[in-house]
Amino acid sequence: MRAHAPARLARAKVAVGELSAVEPDLLSFAWEAIVGEGPDQGAALEIDWRPGRQYCPTCRADKRQGEGSWMRICLDCGAPLQIEGGTELDVIEIELVPAGEENPG
Ligand SMILES: [Zn+2]
Repeated sequence: MRAHAPARLARAKVAVGELSAVEPDLLSFAWEAIVGEGPDQGAALEIDWRPGRQYCPTCRADKRQGEGSWMRICLDCGAPLQIEGGTELDVIEIELVPAGEENPG
C-alpha cells in the first residue's frame, strides 16, 4: 500500500454558482496560471455552472439583482430577495493520476 504515492492532478470539477460572484472565464484563466508550469500542468478544469434564483416574496416574482449592485434587494419594492441556489463555489471532484503511470497523449 502506497498511501502517499506521488500523484499528479488530472482533473478538477468545480461548482460555480451564478451568484457566487465568480466569473467562469476568470476562473479558467486563474486555473491556467496555477497549473501552467507546475507538476499539474495540463490538468483540466471542469466548471459546473449552477444558475441561481432570486425571488421577491412581496412581488411574488423572480427578480434580477440590480446591475452593478452587490445588494440583493428587489428593484421594484426594495424587499430583500430570497436566494435559492446559485451561491456554490465548491470542489466536487478531484481526479489524480499516479505519477509516471499516466497514458501519453
Ligand atoms: Zn419586490
